[in-house]
Amino acid sequence: MLAVRDLHVAYGGIQAVKGLNLDLYEGELVSLIGANGAGKTTTLKAICGLLHPSSGDILYQGRSLKGQGAWDLPAQGLVMVPEGRGIFTRMTIDENLRMGTYLRADADIESDIERVYARFPRLKERMKQLAGTLSGGEQQMLAMGRALLARPKLLLLDEPSMGLSPIMVDLIFEVVREVSQQGVTVLLVEQNAHRALEMADRAYVLESGEMTLSGPAAQLLGDPQVQAAYLGA
Ligand code: ATP
Repeated sequence: MLAVRDLHVAYGGIQAVKGLNLDLYEGELVSLIGANGAGKTTTLKAICGLLHPSSGDILYQGRSLKGQGAWDLPAQGLVMVPEGRGIFTRMTIDENLRMGTYLRADADIESDIERVYARFPRLKERMKQLAGTLSGGEQQMLAMGRALLARPKLLLLDEPSMGLSPIMVDLIFEVVREVSQQGVTVLLVEQNAHRALEMADRAYVLESGEMTLSGPAAQLLGDPQVQAAYLGA
């Protein structure tokens, strides 16, 4: 589904990603973990076209994304929930959700919106409320719901658990698992390395812009190096 090849991304003189290779197969849930500043967000932004790589290539469903912008990709099923959620604070919850459907013209939109409300009843109770008044956890639900309404084939999630209470973290991870079980391919960037490894099929560890470890998530969970650096062992 996704192949990242020798990706380099720089901010001016700062090399944030240095020669990254990464593969995602259809239906997988893959986690990308690493310390602050390791280059995780930069990687996701390059994949979804928000940053232009200085070199390397990104292939999505076998085709290079070179020359395509962020605006071209949701229609192809490549959808991101950004760090900080990116909700439209001065629009209502219902309007935010409908923004997720802006590329669709099929007959299932209303039933899909109802499905999102059924999954997140707190959003339904507040559907006419301005999104900026929601709690952090509710905003994360909204961002996930909006992304799902775009019918993703590949969903990129940037730190969905950041700043949330333990109950909200559980809920959000439950939704990620459900989405993955429904066949959506997921690339999950997380600070919460333990949870990210527990739920993933495979994982990659990024350090200072370079991939240092990769493998089955269960194996990385038991790796002494990973335990010492990321799992507080
Ligand atoms: P975090 O977990 O803190 O979000 P991250 O792994 O997602 O970290 P990135 O945000 O990708 O890391 O940052 C990678 C490197 O690029 C860091 O050294 C960061 O300071 C730098 N960087 C990120 N955004 C910019 C920017 N807009 N301008 C300049 N440097 C940047």
